[in-house]
Amino acid sequence: MLEVHEVAHQWWGNVVIPAGYQDEWLIESLANYSALLLIEKNKGSKAVDAVLEGYKNHLLRKQADGSTIESAGPITWGYRLQSSLAPNAWHVVTYEKGTWIMHMLRRRLGDEKFLSLLRDIYNRYRFSPISTEQFRELAATYAPPKSPDASLKAFFENWVYGTGIPQVKLTYSLRGLKLVGTISQRNVADDFIALVPVEVQTARQKTVHWLATGSEPVPFAIPVKTALAKAVLLPSDCLMTTSR
Ligand SMILES: [Zn+2]
Repeated sequence: MLEVHEVAHQWWGNVVIPAGYQDEWLIESLANYSALLLIEKNKGSKAVDAVLEGYKNHLLRKQADGSTIESAGPITWGYRLQSSLAPNAWHVVTYEKGTWIMHMLRRRLGDEKFLSLLRDIYNRYRFSPISTEQFRELAATYAPPKSPDASLKAFFENWVYGTGIPQVKLTYSLRGLKLVGTISQRNVADDFIALVPVEVQTARQKTVHWLATGSEPVPFAIPVKTALAKAVLLPSDCLMTTSR
């Protein structure tokens, strides 16, 4: 992993460079996620999920005062995350949360668009600095146009400029040919609004719906074609924990 990460710096860091210390996470996360894409190619997506699961555990690890490592501060704080309270917070947040941010972005944009985004950054920012906001604006041009949060502003507010890993709960029942339920979150601030992936499964197909969380349980209704449909959260696609 480390070796591949360093090789990935041939592109990210040597050619595309951060605008300031607040943007260094971007280069490290791009390098680390590129390394993860190579692992996926060689070993499959299960191997990637295992790495991400390990990262999540590190981020959720409790410090002496009961707070998580992830809550040390937003990823854009960069080296300022190095405090005596959580001496390894800088590393864990920069590399491991950063990798999660890239992974979540990929899931939001889709594989093809995400890879186009990486190529686009490389071409546009060759030998020139990129800031976090420039990255967001470019990424937003690859977001599905009619999707909620197409500007990715909420995505960046929560995951990049903010802190928090929500514990998400999905409840639903089948009413006629509709999955009717609520999605609720805990462990995050009231203004944390994440889009979380919910997969609706039938014998014939699986469809992912991105549902918004909020300070109160958020109701949803998804039409389905068969009464045998069920809905599950996809914790491998979003930095969250789940509860029943
Ligand atoms: Zn690096």
